[in-house]
Amino acid sequence: MTTAPARRSVLVVNSGSSSIKYQLVDPSDGSAIASGIVERIGEGEGTVKHEVGDAVTRRELPVPDHGAGLRLVLSLFDEVGPSLADAGIVAVGHRVVQGGPLFDGPVLIDAQVERQIDELAPLAPLHNPANLTGIRVARELLPDVPHVAVFDTAFFHHLPEAAATYAIDRDVAAQYQIRRYGAHGTSHQYVSTAVAEFLDRPLEHTNTIVLHLGNGASASAVRGGQAVDTSMGLTPLEGLVMGTRSGDIDPAVLIHLMRNADMSVDDVDDLLNRRSGLKGMAGENDLRAVHQLVEDGDPAARTALGVYTHRIKKYVGAYAAVLGRVDVIAFTAGVGENDDIVRALSLAGLAPLGIELDVERNAGRKKVPTIISTDTSRTTIVVYPTNEELAITRLTLQVVES
Ligand code: AMP
Repeated sequence: MTTAPARRSVLVVNSGSSSIKYQLVDPSDGSAIASGIVERIGEGEGTVKHEVGDAVTRRELPVPDHGAGLRLVLSLFDEVGPSLADAGIVAVGHRVVQGGPLFDGPVLIDAQVERQIDELAPLAPLHNPANLTGIRVARELLPDVPHVAVFDTAFFHHLPEAAATYAIDRDVAAQYQIRRYGAHGTSHQYVSTAVAEFLDRPLEHTNTIVLHLGNGASASAVRGGQAVDTSMGLTPLEGLVMGTRSGDIDPAVLIHLMRNADMSVDDVDDLLNRRSGLKGMAGENDLRAVHQLVEDGDPAARTALGVYTHRIKKYVGAYAAVLGRVDVIAFTAGVGENDDIVRALSLAGLAPLGIELDVERNAGRKKVPTIISTDTSRTTIVVYPTNEELAITRLTLQVVES
């Protein structure tokens, strides 16, 4: 008699400053056994949403801190299911934004790793402290399973020097650990690997440009599975235009504003991170709203869409030069997967570079991997939905099973 293989699952945790997102992932097919989010932690009335298949459980109650938030999540697993024990939870994978110069891959979390994540907080003041809080309470509440940190920067740790180095005084750069760390690395690694498999191409002979276009947005150039350049820098502010972030900007703009507009460090931080990008230019950070404004004849929204897609095109051109030959361009994340107008405008006029989008194949939202280039395009253009939870699950298992 054969017995069915025991179930295995990984709990993926993504702790923000006032939220905890979680997903219990079945690594065999990447499906979510359960998922949810606790929001407005520490803000009076909090909310919890726990989803198992089509069944959604919602709670509204004060969630004073991350410990209370996670205890609530675990009580929902007990109450509504699935029981973590029955789901065969083998590890918890934590998303950590900044691994700085210390981490080039996922690691098993111990007291020293916690200290190191804390030490890197100046490089990601909004994210690393929140990630660490989530790690600490999860280790306390689930002490019997290994916890693994998966860093958003790790895929870019070994960027070539010429791509990673900022052209500033080398002593200042060394003292303050200033270099290009990148971000969204887990997604760029997952998509660049999965798209080669999807196209049945050997990864080691595939050059790919990944365009991760979500509320945050970044581009990467990947040669044979290794990242060779990326658009985000010391922080996730550099590069493409985003929902509320400016992306590339002349640093002298900051100097000018601080000298002449009586703006403080916090003021320019707020301007560039929260009042720029699509939001700053068009008043809306969601591209669906921007498209509506364009349809209504709003000139600022038209400008915003133009700036947004022009920036993507510039990065595609730059990375074509970096790679020499582009086999694949992969669009992913909320905008990349859903917005055919952005995809079309970003690649318009690139036929001389061998990049030809097929208008019909490109039309509409894509829920599954889809080729959207013409049959004659030298570069294969693909929409490939990202799955950061599955990527974190696989990296977590790599650590606990090695
Ligand atoms: P993400 O950060 O990957 O969740 O992406 C969120 C962003 O995706 C939103 O702010 C929208 O700009 C964009 N988005 C989501 N759905 C659509 C859609 N159907 N059409 C165009 N853009 C979309």
